[in-house]
Amino acid sequence: MSRFRTDVIVIGSGPAGSTAATLLAQYGHGVTIVERATHPRFHIGESLLPMGAPVLERLGIHLDDSDYLPKSGAEFIDERSGQRCRFPLAVQFQAHQVERAKFDQLMVENAIDKGARLRQGETVRSVSIDQQQVTVVTDKEILTARYLIDASGRSSFMGRMSQGISRIDNLGQFSLYTHYSNVNAEAAEALYETGDVQILMLDIGWFWIIPLSGRRLSLGLVVKDKEGLALRGAALFRHYVDASPLLSELLMGAEQESDICSEADFSFCNECRFGERYACCGDAAGFLDPVFSSGVLIAVTSAERVADRLHVGFTEGREADAELHAEDDQDYVLGFQSMLLLVERFYRSNLVQNLFFESARDDSIKEQIAGLLAGDLWSGKNAFQQQLLNSRRYSTGRGT
Ligand SMILES: Cc1cc2nc3c(=O)[nH]c(=O)nc-3n(C[C@H](O)[C@H](O)[C@H](O)COP(=O)(O)OP(=O)(O)OC[C@H]3O[C@@H](n4cnc5c(N)ncnc54)[C@H](O)[C@@H]3O)c2cc1C
Repeated sequence: MSRFRTDVIVIGSGPAGSTAATLLAQYGHGVTIVERATHPRFHIGESLLPMGAPVLERLGIHLDDSDYLPKSGAEFIDERSGQRCRFPLAVQFQAHQVERAKFDQLMVENAIDKGARLRQGETVRSVSIDQQQVTVVTDKEILTARYLIDASGRSSFMGRMSQGISRIDNLGQFSLYTHYSNVNAEAAEALYETGDVQILMLDIGWFWIIPLSGRRLSLGLVVKDKEGLALRGAALFRHYVDASPLLSELLMGAEQESDICSEADFSFCNECRFGERYACCGDAAGFLDPVFSSGVLIAVTSAERVADRLHVGFTEGREADAELHAEDDQDYVLGFQSMLLLVERFYRSNLVQNLFFESARDDSIKEQIAGLLAGDLWSGKNAFQQQLLNSRRYSTGRGT
């Protein structure tokens, strides 16, 4: 066991951890990232939103269109009624569909280029914090630092340690997904042309259809209620693929690359997002259902917020102040709540049928919906977002 001192230890090198590490290193602080996996590692969550692009630009990340498929819209489709509506997204900033193994590796290598240190294949086992420092025990060593950033994703290390995790019920309950290659059917041409994410509405939930570069495709089924299902796992997935004319045409001649994977019980809120000498960002601060692809956007924007505030804290000698992130957190909650309210309406009040499909009649409401779907959650200019927020106030907790 060795002892090592740095300014900041970051748990996790997904989009949130790499964003926070890069920015803090750019500010000139010493950063050590501890990552239990070894890059490149698989991760689900491949559809990015345009409003995450300014953060990537600030990090010095450029996504090459030949490696990452440019994405220009989100389309909602109901084959049962024949209805569909498309929201153009790439107005101000360009979004991409990304293979996460490659994207996350690019992000962490960029953090290293900017001066962060990465210890991968190393798992954080415990954390203790006192007035002087943070002590992190991994399976390989003991590290000390002035500050801890928890970007451990849905493991939410600090949230679990402080018992701040509360589940958000009644959204998607579980997901089954896989990838396809050689998606060369004629029916796929338009999809690769626009790079759109498609959301296919079903009686039991919905499918995501995400085209990836190199004629690959990510297909995921999200089920809203597991009670009463006659089929399970791969059989359930296959049944709904076969029942969809759109999917059957799209996947004609394509090869399924891997077995069906699953993820369950993903939506939660961490009510202890910050405290003395620590802050959480990305999924570690809370995760919403995948339906509107907001995960990576919230990961990079929350990490940016935490890094910028911590830099000010270091400069003012206030990093031990448990309230350091209180003000920024209120702003973060605004965006998180807006997405949560939108997701809730998706599952509980037929948002797609009642509003999205009808929005073609009203350019202004269509534009407001597109703004939220692009991830424009903090401009304060979206009337539909204000309506959502006024409809109900949520408690998403605060720091300890
Ligand atoms: C089914 C599904 C579909 C999704 N689809 C989308 C989508 O289309 N678009 C989108 O934007 N988002 C999507 N998401 C969400 C997206 O995957 C996450 O929001 C995003 O990865 C969050 O980034 P992060 O950096 O916070 O966490 P992660 O990317 O999960 O990174 C956390 C890292 O921490 C490491 N770690 C964890 N614990 C420890 C430990 N104890 N010690 C050391 N390292 C540790 C992990 O190995 C991991 O590398 C989806 C999520 C799910 C479940």
